[in-house]
Amino acid sequence: MLVAGLAEDGLLHEEPAAEHTRGRPTLVPGPHPDGPVALAADVREDAWELAACELGGRVTVLAVRPHDGTPQDALGPLGEAVAAHRRRLGHRVIGIGVALAGPVRHHGLVDIAHLNWRSVDVPALLGLPAPSQAEGGSSAPGVPVIGNDTAFAALAEARRGRLQGVRVGLHLHVDFDPGGVLVVDGHPVAGASGIGAELGHMPLGGGDRPCLCGARGCWAMDVGANALLRHVGLAYGGGRGREQAERVLATSQEAVRANAEALGRGIAALVNAHDPEVVTLSGHGVELRERAGAALLAACEPLLMTIRRDRPPRIEGSALGWRGSLLGAMESVFDAFLTTGGLELWRKDHPDQGRDTPDRQSVTHSTLGGERPL
Ligand SMILES: [Zn+2]
Repeated sequence: MLVAGLAEDGLLHEEPAAEHTRGRPTLVPGPHPDGPVALAADVREDAWELAACELGGRVTVLAVRPHDGTPQDALGPLGEAVAAHRRRLGHRVIGIGVALAGPVRHHGLVDIAHLNWRSVDVPALLGLPAPSQAEGGSSAPGVPVIGNDTAFAALAEARRGRLQGVRVGLHLHVDFDPGGVLVVDGHPVAGASGIGAELGHMPLGGGDRPCLCGARGCWAMDVGANALLRHVGLAYGGGRGREQAERVLATSQEAVRANAEALGRGIAALVNAHDPEVVTLSGHGVELRERAGAALLAACEPLLMTIRRDRPPRIEGSALGWRGSLLGAMESVFDAFLTTGGLELWRKDHPDQGRDTPDRQSVTHSTLGGERPL
């Protein structure tokens, strides 16, 4: 019934199941060939990735581009790519979600301390309207959903990863430095002004080295790619050195162990505070757990309160790889669209959508998981 309604509105499209053998074919719902598309971008400190996502979860990577770490070089070309793909996909595009590696206030201002980004106006540099300051950043069509990469990764983990069905979980995303957020009933706890996912800037590292965020002794000084580079005496910071850090991660057991121990100590403090059922790790966190899981646990367990040691939370690697932030941004765009108001607008703009037209706009790009091109 639900699927039939969605098919009538041109949101989904039913086609025979591939493994059908005899009798009446089983119809399985899939993305409508002319149905809604969410654009989603993951802006990291050194590069960005732009993808198109259909209802049902099919993701097509449209472009990947390195940048020099400045807001103009990162966001200007991304804005141009978004505009070009919106023109190409036309009325199918229902919104754009953008993940960024720093705290984002509701109206789209981002700070990335180690890139020296201060109150960078993301919508303005992308050439898009600013999000409303409404609670939760909900938006009108055409208005981007802009958020923190860790919070988006946590949302994706709650929707389709290892935090599904978990009442209280903790998600940690480790890239150049760690970010983390508490996830309650499937919702990352964003904070009063949307900038809550900043567990990397708590003094969990044990030192008092000044951090570029303005605080001292931040966890970010000891966990992540910057810390790996520093451990072996290589230059670090400014969002540079991803390849070197990956080499350190693959070859220096000592640097990996120091990173994993710092991660474990911080996890213990956060578990003592929040009592999560599961702690999920994404980004480099997955490799740290795989390569030095014993060191991570050995550093974590003695710092847990006695009452927590009988049943410590599971610490698991994300099943979504590095794509959690992108997928979370996509989920947020569909959340804003799949509302009474959003669907009404779609019906108004697509009065003929009920007819199942076979015209598939031709796009040839790599797709994830060997799926058909969008
Ligand atoms: Zn800091």
